[in-house]
Amino acid sequence: MIPIPTLEQADRKTIQRFQEEKLRQFLAYLQAHSAFYQKLFTAHRIDISTVKTLEDLARLPFTTKEDLQHKNMEFRCVDAAQAADYVTTSGTSGDPVLLALTDKDLDRLAYNESLSYQCMGMAAGETVQLTTTMDRRFMAGLAYFLGARKAGMGVVRVGSGVPELQWDTIARINPQVIVCVPSFLLKMVEFAEANGIDYRRSSVKKALCIGEPIRNPDFSPNALASRIQGKWDIALFSTYASTEMGTAFTECVHGVGGHHHPELIITEFVDEDDNPIPYGEAGELVVTTLGVEGMPLLRFKTGDIVQPHYEPCACGRTTLRLGPVIGRKNQMVKYKGTTLYPPALFDLLNDMEEVENYVIEIANDEFGEDEITVKVGAKDGSEELLLKIKDRFRAKLRVSPRIIFVSIQEINCIRFPENSRKSVTLFDHRK
Ligand SMILES: [Zn+2]
Repeated sequence: MIPIPTLEQADRKTIQRFQEEKLRQFLAYLQAHSAFYQKLFTAHRIDISTVKTLEDLARLPFTTKEDLQHKNMEFRCVDAAQAADYVTTSGTSGDPVLLALTDKDLDRLAYNESLSYQCMGMAAGETVQLTTTMDRRFMAGLAYFLGARKAGMGVVRVGSGVPELQWDTIARINPQVIVCVPSFLLKMVEFAEANGIDYRRSSVKKALCIGEPIRNPDFSPNALASRIQGKWDIALFSTYASTEMGTAFTECVHGVGGHHHPELIITEFVDEDDNPIPYGEAGELVVTTLGVEGMPLLRFKTGDIVQPHYEPCACGRTTLRLGPVIGRKNQMVKYKGTTLYPPALFDLLNDMEEVENYVIEIANDEFGEDEITVKVGAKDGSEELLLKIKDRFRAKLRVSPRIIFVSIQEINCIRFPENSRKSVTLFDHRK
């Protein structure tokens, strides 16, 4: 088994002192190499030598996604000759941002994902099957590949989709773990059942689940996880990461939130007005990257609403844990007096066997209020099912959005727009 880093088992003071030392080095690096932060420090008359503690950090301005999009090149701290790899963000909210990674950044990425495998209890010599894309300027596939190698594990890069090729690979190579979008596991089960593959006795015992939550805020399995595990008894591990952070928060075997790696990133949590949230409440995650050379970020607002947990974990790590992403800040819906985030709607629909697929549209009505339309694809789009869905919404979320039936094929077309690397479930048309 790969050992837990000493720092991640240290007391809070030791971790804080470590991060403050790294923070001072980081600010000096920005001052020397980042055109964006040089201008920012000058404009705000910031003397970085006065920023010594994590508390001092809170005096500095935030960096937003818009800053990254509009001044992308100003964030680059290295020239083309030092770039080892280029990636872009997924661009689900606006223009994709380009990042150049240096050799050291690739090492950092490898270390980061080796910690994810370590959290999952993986060991050197085991094999991981990657269903993530290695190309198309994606960071994730590369990160999981490098991390596995760093951890001494073997990798088979199958890429996304094609259940047949996934099962063929599992049969030939016997990997212990698969990295995938969790809903894809259902597709694999479906294929296995249709083709007489004994999936329950396959070599795959663990899945690293990316892109979709598998837990409720209290860490119980959500509808998607229950559906998977009802069919196939494999251990599901949630992970939360982004290209901008270059850092993942992955659960350990105790499944109580993604572990923070303090050697890689400083975390803060703020409310709607950008003030620190009271201890233990959910807020927007703000990150400061440590050890990044290519495009380091200071107080970057991720837009993700998450709940931090501070009690030490049974695995021995003392670092904070992040609960599942409750929603994205800009996707907050105020609907008839209730505040909602789309993942709660997804979860409800995922829980209904009769719902084959769906998309959710949010728009402003004629009075400027938020309006939700759920387009549902079902084999039997009956009045009875409509009432059942409506009842479920009222019971679980206390709202009753507009629900319309659309053909399953049409929804598939809407969900996979041309040139999109991911399927899209939410369309936000609000001004
Ligand atoms: Zn743990």
